[in-house]
Amino acid sequence: EVTVRNLAKTFGGNSVLRDVTFTIRDGEFFTLLGASGCGKSTTLNCIAGLEQPTEGAITVGGRPFVDTAAGVFLPPEERNLGMVFQSYALWPHMTIAKNLALPLNIRKVPKEKQKTLIHDALDKVGLAELSGRYPHQLSGGQQQRVALARALVYSPTVLLLDEPLSNLDAKLREQARAWLKRLQEELGITTVYVTHDQEEALALSDRIAVMEGGNMIQIGTPHEIYERPAAPEVAAFVGRCN
Ligand code: ATP
Ligand code: MG
Repeated sequence: EVTVRNLAKTFGGNSVLRDVTFTIRDGEFFTLLGASGCGKSTTLNCIAGLEQPTEGAITVGGRPFVDTAAGVFLPPEERNLGMVFQSYALWPHMTIAKNLALPLNIRKVPKEKQKTLIHDALDKVGLAELSGRYPHQLSGGQQQRVALARALVYSPTVLLLDEPLSNLDAKLREQARAWLKRLQEELGITTVYVTHDQEEALALSDRIAVMEGGNMIQIGTPHEIYERPAAPEVAAFVGRCN
């Protein structure tokens, strides 16, 4: 379970998150949806520990990650989260296997064990046979899957995905979406997904949190969000203009 309580963030006096609160259940595919600049990535980065919130508390599996009132801040490398960004940044001079070995080296996983973990992670994304290739020898979609394998290789408790499909063209994106959904269900891994694409959010999510201007304006299942938008902004954003 991921709990986010009263999260606030200001950048140099500019308030970009206000009183954001939500709870994500184990195994849930939870999406932060909203227009550019609404604070999705900042929220995700606070969970990852890449940003320090100005106020608020976050726990994962009961472990306090951050609590501004209590002066708690767990460094990102101790949070055991898997993260994939929009620009997935594989190392171009390293083979796929070496790219996956990197997070394992950082975690001091013994070499013999690394081989199995790397094979298993690549197998999950259907690319085990390409481990000896370099990133430029893969298609964009395959590179994206490698980035996902790299985030999964050390068995993270939670997967954080920030617009991971936005670099792909429309057709690839659709394929990747179906494939990602299948993998997430198969692994049952709690996933926080960030997108500004309402169709993507409706297709993938167990629940969606709609954000606007640093506020969370509605949280619900795709069906609830679509059929019973809590505010005109939500209706407009998911494509219902009534
Ligand atoms: P997008 O869909 O474009 O990625 P987003 O919802 O992820 O948008 P954020 O990246 O969370 O939005 O940004 C929210 C606001 O905070 C924006 O106005 C942005 O300019 C501002 N912001 C984000 N990071 C910083 C930073 N490090 N310093 C100053 N302002 C920032
Ligand atoms: Mg963003």
